[in-house]
Order: sequence, then C-alpha cells, then structure tokens
Amino acid sequence: MERTRMRWTKYYLPTFKETPSDAEIPSHKLMLRAGLIRKLTAGVYTFLPLGFRVLKKIETIVREEMDRIGCQEVLMPILHPSELYKESGRFQHFGPELFKLHDRRNRLFALGPTHEEVITDMARSELKSYRQLPQCHYQILTKFRDEIRPRFGVMRAREFIMKDAYSFHTSEESLDEIYEKMAGAYRRILDRCGLSNVMVEADAGKIGGDINHEFVVLAQEGESEIFSCSCGYAANDERAESLGRPAEVKEPVLDTPQKIKTPGQKTVEEVTAFLGAKPSQLVKTLLYKTSNKTVAALIGGDRTLSETKFSKIVGDPMIEPLSDEEIFELTGAEVGYSGPVGLPKDTMIIADTLLEEFQGMIVGANETDAHLRGVKMGRDFTPNASANISRARAGDRCPRCEKGTLSVQRGVELGHIFKLGTKYSESMGATYLDDDGKERPFIMGCYGFGVSRTVAAAIEQHHDEKGIIWPSSITPMHVLVLPVNIADAQTRNTAEMLYEDLRGAGFDVLLDDRDLRPGYKFKDADLIGIPLRITLGERNLKKGMIEIYYRREDRSELVRKKDVIHTIQRFYEPDQ
Ligand SMILES: [Zn+2]
Repeated sequence: MERTRMRWTKYYLPTFKETPSDAEIPSHKLMLRAGLIRKLTAGVYTFLPLGFRVLKKIETIVREEMDRIGCQEVLMPILHPSELYKESGRFQHFGPELFKLHDRRNRLFALGPTHEEVITDMARSELKSYRQLPQCHYQILTKFRDEIRPRFGVMRAREFIMKDAYSFHTSEESLDEIYEKMAGAYRRILDRCGLSNVMVEADAGKIGGDINHEFVVLAQEGESEIFSCSCGYAANDERAESLGRPAEVKEPVLDTPQKIKTPGQKTVEEVTAFLGAKPSQLVKTLLYKTSNKTVAALIGGDRTLSETKFSKIVGDPMIEPLSDEEIFELTGAEVGYSGPVGLPKDTMIIADTLLEEFQGMIVGANETDAHLRGVKMGRDFTPNASANISRARAGDRCPRCEKGTLSVQRGVELGHIFKLGTKYSESMGATYLDDDGKERPFIMGCYGFGVSRTVAAAIEQHHDEKGIIWPSSITPMHVLVLPVNIADAQTRNTAEMLYEDLRGAGFDVLLDDRDLRPGYKFKDADLIGIPLRITLGERNLKKGMIEIYYRREDRSELVRKKDVIHTIQRFYEPDQ
C-alpha cells in the first residue's frame, strides 16, 4: 500500500478540548474532538481526512477477507424502484424507516436500506441454471435508513457505509457451507481489526429468515446486551431466552381471588411495598394494540417485556402500547390497575413462560385503587398463548444446558448474517432450472457488516480518559513525530529526517510541526491516539537519543537514533 506522510500544519485535523454537548457515548465524543467526523444534519456525517483513513483501512481488511472466501465484489445502485419492495412485502415492513422519493415522472423510489430485492431481481433474470450456482456477491456501499432517533454519531446514523453480501444456492448444504465461511471471515475481520468479539444468536428483525447470528464487539457502553453461558450458549437481548429463577417467596393460591384496596398504589414497587410482598409475586399486565386487536402481555413484576419477542408472537411488527385513555376505556380503571381477570373476551392474552412457575398471583383488579390476590392462571383467566416474552437477566438459568447461569456483557453489533431460505426468491418469483429441468426457487443467504460503525466500535473498545488508542492494524497513521521545540535547529532537522525515513520504511507518518506549547501538542497526541509517538527533545538529542512513547501502555523508552526505525518495525511486524 502507498504510504502517506503529512504535516499537521497542512493537514485538516481540527481537534478540540471541550466535550460536545450532544454526544452521549465515548466514541461519538472522541470522533468529534479528534477531528474524525463532522455532522451535516441529524444522523448524517462527513468523514474528515483522519477519520477517512481509518475507514479505508477497515474497508481494505473487509475486502481482503471477502475475496479470500471467493465472494465477488459488485456495485449495485443506491436508487431502488419501490415496486421491488412491494413485491417482497418489505415496503410495509420497513414503514417510515425506508427513505422514499419521487422522480420527475412521479415514480416512487427508495434509497437502499439493504439490497435483497435488487440482487434477487438480478438473479431472476441472470441465473437460469443450477450450473451457475452457487454465487456469492458483495459490495461496500452507503445505505439509508430513516432512524426514528439517530444518535451516537456514526453508530446509529441515517446514512452509513456497509458491506453487504448475498448468496444463491440450490441446497441447504451449499448455503450452510457459505454461511460457515462467512462466519469465519467475520471472525477474521474483527480479529484483524484488533476487536475482541463474540458471535451470538440474534433476532432476524426486518431482514427475515430463520437462522441468523450477530457479531458483537465487546464494549462497556455498547448498545447491545448479550447473554452467555459457559456451555457455549450466546444470544443477544432480543433473542436470549431464560428459564428464570425460582420465585423466592410463593404467593398462595386462594379459593377465589381476593380483592384488596390499594389506594394510590400504581407501580410494582408501590403495590408490593404496600402489600408486604416481593415484585416477583406480582404479575404485570401490559396492554398493546395492533391494527385489528388488543393484546395483553403478562410478565412477572420483576421482569421487563421484550417488545421484539412479543411482537413476533403476536405476529405484527407494528404493535403499540395503549394510551391512558384507551386503557381506561378497555378496563374501566386508571393505568396501574390493569389485570387479566375479566378483560373483554376479544382481548388476546399472552403469558410469559416464566409465569408457569407461579402459584398465586397479585394482579390489577381492573378497578381503580384495587388489586386481586391469590389469582390462579387457568382458573381465573386463560391465556391465549404462553411464550417467552420477557427479557433475560443476568443470573437466569441457561435455556440450553438448563444448569448454568447466564451472564451479561455489553457490546456493539457490527455484523449480522442470515440464512434467508426462499423468503425473497418465493415472494419475487426468482427461480432456476434444476438438473431435471424443474423450476425451483433459489435458497439464499445475506450477510451485513457495518463498516463506518466499526470506526466507532473500535473507539468504544479502545480508549481512555485522554483519548483514542487505535489498534495498530487500523490506526490512521503509524507514527506521530513530535518535535518539542520546533525552533531548535537540531530538533527540526532530526524531525525532517525521520519524517522522510519512516515513510521510506513503509510507515504512514504525521509530523506535528505546529509551533505550539508542548503540553498542548501532547494532549492532542493522546486524543488522536496514534499507537507510537516519537518525541524529539533537545536534551535527549544532544545525547544521540530519541524517546518513543507507547500510547496503549503509557510507557516511554529511549532508543539510539539509529535504532528508531528498527524499533518501530518490530512494533508493527505482526500487522505487516
Ligand atoms: Zn448453558
């Protein structure tokens, strides 16, 4: 790769000290402060020169690993005819998240959120015979999604760069083979980027298909929660099931439910404190509506509803909580007193599987200021379905081995791979002729990887209070040469010499030739996070010595001038 050298005085690298007011997470703050990105409008960012270099290095790694498994690079359009989304059924499924626009003939288009429709359209006209299969194509391209609340900088943006790949097969076995290769490639990409990661079972969301896995980069303030067990089970919070924990105190079942006055007590905490019970003895009734019915979700008082799991059971992605007025209309009681006993018959009731362990229950009485005690499921009310709709929690029993306990970690989702099966090929009529001359729908897989997001995730995993600490494989520059006093002739000459020699030796070099106070330059150096800094001070130079500072270890060493290049080569050897 062609190496770069830059002088800070000529480079557009605008750093600042203040914490940006609208940035919540470390990567967003640091990307702004270190001059990597600038915001154009909500969820839309420019990558400035230093940030762009990181992006390009990540792209190179992604490209190399896709090429290595035989996936072929293509470039598909961003502008998609909306008819394709109507064929696949995703026009509705995406809803307002799909960016739409009209051309001058008033034809409706979408800005590509992913490319399943576009590539399936190509396959149905190009791939006619089983002899042409399997095929696996990828691209690295800007994608668009009108996020309801764009935030966290490039982490949850409305326009972002993704690598997306699609594969077409004649059999499940062939799909399995590419799926495994893709998982291996994702592992290598993340390992090469210096990011510790885990592969977890996930929810298919708006893409669809049965089997899918996410690749999550571990980070303390990451958006995703992942649950894992020592038996090897790992799943994200939308997917993770649990066997719960046995309730510590059982509420007795009574012969008939007993109504008790609970004036003004609405929240789980208030009601249970008032009754001298534990939150795990109470059952929450959460009311939602779909386009044509009302649905009640019943979960333990100490649990949180997973709307993802719930909407999947209900079979409608557009579920919405009832308003306070709608709750009053349905139950005849204020918010906080809803319960499953005596709800209108056409209300669908879905009970969390963890409630099967319950004996008696404390529930709302559908009467303001009252609850019921000793309620029994199956006698006092009958749910339409029982399903795991609550979120897993650390300490819950593992659903796979049934012995271990789940532990929780946070992270950032970077990759998501799907076995789509025939979801798109069937809805869009994409078929090939098999060896008997029979028409069959393609079996498909799709594989996404967030490229611009990786820049942010790398910072989430690698930073300290002073700034970024780049993993050496994706650092925008290999070496920062920092002359302490630019006015000193020997310092200046040595800086110029190293600046030249380092590039000659195959390194990207940034020379901080600004005439500024040393303290200011050191702070900036820590902020932009280049792994190695060569500090040129007059006193050391007089002794023929040069200081190399290791950003990650916060450690300096003095080396002889002639050994500098060799020392730097040794540091970067594993990446080259
Ligand atoms: Zn387990």
